[in-house]
Amino acid sequence: MSEGKKKSMKVAAWAMMANMPLKLKAEITLKMLLAGSDERKRRELMHSVSERRRLTLPRNQIKWHPSIDQKACKQCKVCLNFCPKGVYSEKADGSIVVANPYECVMLCTGCEGRCPEGAISFPDKKDFQKYVYYV
Ligand code: SF4
Ligand code: SF4
Repeated sequence: MSEGKKKSMKVAAWAMMANMPLKLKAEITLKMLLAGSDERKRRELMHSVSERRRLTLPRNQIKWHPSIDQKACKQCKVCLNFCPKGVYSEKADGSIVVANPYECVMLCTGCEGRCPEGAISFPDKKDFQKYVYYV
């Protein structure tokens, strides 16, 4: 796996921990530290976290996803290459679009800060925390 993909997986993983009860967050953080740089262990751990994650509505009814300001976007593809979930795609004319909005990990904003043009935005996280809980 490339360094870029590893980094984006890590960001999505931390996003998955948003809204997690403190006790569970501490447990996962400790396990993550113990896993160190062992990618297989880290992936297994995040898989177990995602298994415990629940949404209060079907994902396609929760409007959490990035938006691109097409006037600001310079079509550099940083977001396209960064997102591990395939949310972005490139159109025939070279423009980058949010093609699979509901593949975006709930509460992840990993790509936002990577856009060199500040062209990516998300809704207010506070309004969406209520949709995520853990069992
Ligand atoms: S599109 Fe969503 S899942 Fe992909 S990096 Fe951005 S915030 Fe994370
Ligand atoms: S990172 Fe920003 S400027 Fe580059 S393609 Fe994505 S939205 Fe456009």
